[in-house]
Amino acid sequence: MTELPGSQLIASVEAGGTKFVCAIGRGPGDIVAELRIPTTTPEETIERCLEFFSRQKTERGAVAALGVATFGPAGLNPARADYGYITTTPKPGWQNVPLLGALQSGLGGIPARFDTDVNAAALAEWKWGAGKGVDSLLYYTIGTGIGGGFVSSRGAPLHGLVHPEMGHVRLPRDPARDPFTGACPFHGDCFEGLASGTAIEARWNQSATHIPPEHPAWDLEAEYIALALNNSVCSLSPERLVLGGGVMEQQHLFPLIRLKLAQYLNGYIDSTMILEQIDQYVVPPALANQAGLLGGIALGQAALATLASA
Ligand code: ZN
Repeated sequence: MTELPGSQLIASVEAGGTKFVCAIGRGPGDIVAELRIPTTTPEETIERCLEFFSRQKTERGAVAALGVATFGPAGLNPARADYGYITTTPKPGWQNVPLLGALQSGLGGIPARFDTDVNAAALAEWKWGAGKGVDSLLYYTIGTGIGGGFVSSRGAPLHGLVHPEMGHVRLPRDPARDPFTGACPFHGDCFEGLASGTAIEARWNQSATHIPPEHPAWDLEAEYIALALNNSVCSLSPERLVLGGGVMEQQHLFPLIRLKLAQYLNGYIDSTMILEQIDQYVVPPALANQAGLLGGIALGQAALATLASA
C-alpha cells in the first residue's frame, strides 16, 4: 500500500544546547505528542528522547522516519566519518557525539536525516511558513547567537565543506560610531560579535529586551543586520528573507532593516521584490518557535521522499 506523502508519523528531535524537544507529528497543527528535556549529558539526554519515542510507539504505532535538527557544529556530509555527529562544540561533554546514530539505531534504524537547527528551520519556513510559494529562502536566527540557513529550489538546504556559518561573516564597523570591539570569541566583530543579543547586552550594558525602541541601539542593530542581508542577497539571491530569533521579536526593527537594505543595495538588484515590495521580501517567521521542531518533521519527510525516488 502506498501512503500519501505527509500522511505518515515522523519523529522529530530539535537538539539545542539547553534543551531537546522531541515530537511526533506530520506538520503544522499536527504535532501529536511533544516533550521538552533539559540538555544534560549526551547519554542521559539521548536515553530520555528514546524513552519518549518508545512510549509513543506503544500508544500510536511506529514512526516512518526521523529528522534531527541540531545545534552545531555538526557533521552533515554522509561521505565523512563524522556524519551525524555533533563535532567541535564548546559545550562540555558534547564533542564528537554520534547523535544521529544513537537516535536512529534506538528507533530501529528507520530512514533519517540530520541537519543544523537553522537549516531545518529554513526548510520548515520554506515548506509551510513564510516561504510558501517561493523557490529559495534564507532564514536568519538572531538571538543569543546568529545563524543562517538557505534552502534552494525543491527544498534542499545548502551544505558544502561543512555547513554555512552565516553568523560569522565580517561586516564593516566604524570605530568612531561603534567602539565596541565585538563579542565573538573567535572573530571579535563578526556579524554575531556585533549584532547578537549577547553583543547588544555587552555593548549597552543592558538586556536587549529592556532597551526602548527609540534607543540608538536599534538603528545600529538594523544597520549591521542590513549589511549582512546585503551580502546574502548578493551572494545567494534568495527569493525571501526570513528573520527570526529573540532579537527579532523587536518588531520595530523590520522597517529600519528594509530601509537600510534598500539603501545599501542602491537599486543595483533589478527585482521588484526589492525595489517595490521589500515589505514582503524581508519578513518575520510564520512558524514562530515551532520552526526547529517542524524542521525535524520536514527532514524526516525528506528522508522518506529520497527513499521513494531512489
Ligand atoms: Zn564570529
